[in-house]
Amino acid sequence: MDLAILQFLKSLFKKTLIKFSQSVIIIIKVCGDNMEYKFRYNTYSDYLKNKYGEKIYKLPINIPATCPNRDGTLGYGGCIFCGEEGAGYENLSNECSVRYQIDSNSGYIRKKYKAEKFIAYFQNFSNTYVPLEKFKEYIIDSCQKDIVQISISTRPDCVKNEYLEFLKGVNKDRNVEICFELGLQTVNYHTLDKINRGHGLAEFIDAVLRIKRYGFEICVHIILDLPWDDVRDIIEAAKIISVLGIEQVKLHSLYIVKNTVLEKAYNKNEVELLSKDEYIRRAITFLEYLSPGIIIQRLIGRAPEKNTVLVNWNTSWWKIKDEIDELMDKMESFQGKKFNYMGGNILANLL
Ligand code: SF4
Repeated sequence: MDLAILQFLKSLFKKTLIKFSQSVIIIIKVCGDNMEYKFRYNTYSDYLKNKYGEKIYKLPINIPATCPNRDGTLGYGGCIFCGEEGAGYENLSNECSVRYQIDSNSGYIRKKYKAEKFIAYFQNFSNTYVPLEKFKEYIIDSCQKDIVQISISTRPDCVKNEYLEFLKGVNKDRNVEICFELGLQTVNYHTLDKINRGHGLAEFIDAVLRIKRYGFEICVHIILDLPWDDVRDIIEAAKIISVLGIEQVKLHSLYIVKNTVLEKAYNKNEVELLSKDEYIRRAITFLEYLSPGIIIQRLIGRAPEKNTVLVNWNTSWWKIKDEIDELMDKMESFQGKKFNYMGGNILANLL
């Protein structure tokens, strides 16, 4: 294909798509006369739309769960960055029934976005760290009309087989998909100790292997800019997630939430935070080593200013996302660019 035509098509595709959607940029590869194109990374919204045929919205659900790392079972105070409200700062009170939370949140979204299908997202703290009978009640209560998936956020060491067995029945009898959102944050077990996770990498691998036996999907949460990790840890995280066959990832930066151990350390200048540019570089490196089939739920998280001392370098999450997109474009980078390490492939290339 003529180079000038290629350049023209590249700019045309790029401009149209950037205008159409800020979240994706197209790349074009030329193989002889055939032109292929694909997104730089797999976006969650596209994945859901392809899977369910329409836009799907997540409904946060807050149940009275806590965490063994907070209630004294494994430790007190939790992970050094975890605030009193956990992750669910947008949630309704956990005193409201699951049914009420679903009705209330879906009613609003239904009206505003004309949405029809939803994911019931048990978001806050460790949602499998409640007695099994209570867990069953909450899950059954969430199996409402138009709920296509139940997503359960928890710690890897709180995934017990009895809970998985129960969910297998729900998946089959209620025709609703199950997804686990596992907090890992880093694959570096020395850093896991530093942030007081209370579990190591092995517990995470164990949970993933057992969840996968039930055929449920898994989304892993990773913090890319933990100051005790270097880029080698980020590469290893992408590789471990890929080789385990995990389906989705959520990437976050390190927030300083008020009244946390991290806030105290930060105020005493004991923690040196990484820069926004370093986060962006790490995000791109992570994506390049990640299997091209994995879905990116988030490239960067968000948290309300009122609860935090510092979040995302006082920059809005979508600006950081745009910067990642732009740099990937400039570097001609894409998800899976360096995904060459499985199945003995590196060795095969040398022979
Ligand atoms: S495991 Fe999750 S809920 Fe528990 S302390 Fe850590 S961040 Fe908070």
